[in-house]
Amino acid sequence: MQESADMSLLTETCLRTALSNNELSLAFQPQLSDNGTIVGAEALLRWENSDLGNVSPPEFIPIAEETGLILPIGQWVIEQSCQTINTLDEKGLLIPHIAVNISAKQFLQTGFVINLISTIEKYNIMPNRLMLEITESVFIKQMEVALESMNALKMNGFNLAIDDFGTGYSSLSYLKQLPFDQLKIDQSFTQGVSVQKNDLAIVKGIIMMADGLGLNIIAEGAETERQVNILKQHGCAQFQGHFFSKPLPLEKFISYLQEQSIET
Ligand code: C2E
Ligand code: MG
Ligand code: MG
Repeated sequence: MQESADMSLLTETCLRTALSNNELSLAFQPQLSDNGTIVGAEALLRWENSDLGNVSPPEFIPIAEETGLILPIGQWVIEQSCQTINTLDEKGLLIPHIAVNISAKQFLQTGFVINLISTIEKYNIMPNRLMLEITESVFIKQMEVALESMNALKMNGFNLAIDDFGTGYSSLSYLKQLPFDQLKIDQSFTQGVSVQKNDLAIVKGIIMMADGLGLNIIAEGAETERQVNILKQHGCAQFQGHFFSKPLPLEKFISYLQEQSIET
């Protein structure tokens, strides 16, 4: 216990200077449609520290949330994503959107929507070029505030995705009320469909329900052709996962895009 507390304190101390020391970067993971065209990419944080080495998001994001450091870090992620959209556009690599993970604390912060609007204006980005990924922790914590922000975001043209769907409560009544555009099937289900009857049954239900609600569905964590084929067979039309590509640093992502067809 002591060791783990020491580690988390060390991580916190290092995280405080990660931004100013340029230790953070983004990796981009392509999202593809079932005919192989690129429909978007997810921006994923990477942190390399000289003492700690590479620290994974599941290790440092919870600490960033607890300490509030997620606010400046999250803003940096949004700005980097906007800048990346511009860089790609300039190269003629017009991907429909970059998906950005927004933590609950960040999403529920007063002024989040206004601040986001002024950020995209600063970079001259259309709002539909950002897909904002949130998990249900956002609306479980503060339903009223979350709903108000989500409606404001929709009114202003942003797209919203519910991440990791199928884990946690996955409440159907929330889904009905909240203005999502996309539902991301959690990777545990994506990977389970080829081995677990129960997972397949749940995924079939999720796809049917999402279809009925007019949501676009994407399966994350697709690792094998078999998983992809089963999901396609049941009506899932978009995928993200190692089977197609791991998250790539910007330069490699650019080379990847130059070799692929992009949905326009
Ligand atoms: P997520 O948003 O659900 O992202 C998907 C995670 O699955 C990523 O892990 C990605 O690298 C991994 N992944 C993608 N395809 C596969 C696959 O085929 N197999 C396997 N085993 N894994 C795959 P990563 O990059 O470690 O990020 C973990 C989580 O950390 C993310 O889950 C997200 O919740 C959070 N995160 C990452 N970047 C950010 C960020 O900028 N802001 C916030 N608030 N959270 C972030
Ligand atoms: Mg995500
Ligand atoms: Mg996810």
